[in-house]
Amino acid sequence: MNEIQMESWRAAEREHAWHPYAGVPPHIANIPIVGARGMTLQLADGRMLIDGMSSWWAVIHGYNHPVLNAAIQDQLNRASHVMFGGITHPAAAELVERLVEITPAPLQTVFLADSGSVSVEVALKMAIQYWYARGKPGKQRFIALRRGYHGDTSGAMSVSDPENGMHSLFADSLLKQWHAEAPQTTFHGNFDGGDLESMAALLEQFHDRIAGVIVEPIVQGAGGMRFYHPGYLKGLHELCERWDVLLIADEIATNFGRTGRLFACEHAGIAPDIMCLGKALTGGYMTLAAAVTTEEVSHTISNADPGVFMHGPTFMANPLACAAAIASIRVLLDSPWEDNIAAISRGLEAGLRPYADVSGVRDIRVLGAIGVIEMEQPVDIAAVNHAYIDQGVWLRPFNKLIYTMPAFIATEKDIRRITQAMCDTVKAAVAYRG
Ligand SMILES: *Cc1c(COP(=O)(O)O)cnc(C)c1O
Repeated sequence: MNEIQMESWRAAEREHAWHPYAGVPPHIANIPIVGARGMTLQLADGRMLIDGMSSWWAVIHGYNHPVLNAAIQDQLNRASHVMFGGITHPAAAELVERLVEITPAPLQTVFLADSGSVSVEVALKMAIQYWYARGKPGKQRFIALRRGYHGDTSGAMSVSDPENGMHSLFADSLLKQWHAEAPQTTFHGNFDGGDLESMAALLEQFHDRIAGVIVEPIVQGAGGMRFYHPGYLKGLHELCERWDVLLIADEIATNFGRTGRLFACEHAGIAPDIMCLGKALTGGYMTLAAAVTTEEVSHTISNADPGVFMHGPTFMANPLACAAAIASIRVLLDSPWEDNIAAISRGLEAGLRPYADVSGVRDIRVLGAIGVIEMEQPVDIAAVNHAYIDQGVWLRPFNKLIYTMPAFIATEKDIRRITQAMCDTVKAAVAYRG
């Protein structure tokens, strides 16, 4: 592409494309990427950036992976898509079998959906339909956590943090749910049982109207990159059993090793009633998600009126996406992923910890392949993005957070570059605010 073609491509895009959480035209220019391989993104002008974001948790094996490429090409030559209503295909069969094998034992039934938000909608509907089938149609609402994030569709928004989600803006269109206080004990802290008080009180008061509790296990991602104690999940699991509500674990960000365990629920040794999977499910190749549940839920729904689960996306179980997911899971489990993630963790600690006492920095935290610098003040991306771009690294700070969740193939040197760029961004943010 020559410079003139590039300019007209970019001008058209600026005018007509709406980007995530952005205005039109965008207030901050988007970076044109024309290729991606391994850890690197190739800019239109030929520069290379090391990717610190793995495209929002998804690209865990790096870009342009030969095994994933081959799996998709092979499936492409068989069938790129067939409807899943009344039809089935080998890629779906293999994927659901694999997911049942690797998720906690009680989870036996897989509903494939087309994005994370949709899998959350599916999970909420499953919980409601389960209680309906059990003769408790009054259980239609949910309890979620403050600081939680579960997606951008309206059901998912209703269970996300009311302030981050700007619930006031959508006040009359969102379902009213209950929000318990977010757990305060950090992942490595000494668990304070008081963290569960707010949740316990809501359950005690409203359990006969509550179908389920939905949480992101261990890591509250988009709501603040907070890492909380496994004791909270254990306690919550007990509370849900005691009050007869389903526990929905939204693992969309944490699944497939990100926190150092294959699924974050494993830190607490619990199995939820429904687990939502997404993002890294296809190694970041295609959009695909899943709501995985127990036979108690799937059989109860199937054995009562209307006898079917009322959901069915057009592109459900898309064969190309299933093929990518099967290949991604195989590549992950065939790799020494636990060692790789532990090494990334150590590299993030080593690179970030020295900045804990820098003025303007509130907290440094690392869990698995996630590294976070929390600032005292919101970071102005437009003012600081030169700091990481100049270092040849792609980051995307938001609010007070400068953070990374790199692909698991990141080398020690990649992690050094990424943490150096994060620290340069801190300096730029502090200098900018004066
Ligand atoms: C990203 C995310 C979602 C939404 O997934 P989409 O594929 O963007 O719809 C839901 N829950 C969590 C925890 C997420 O991180």
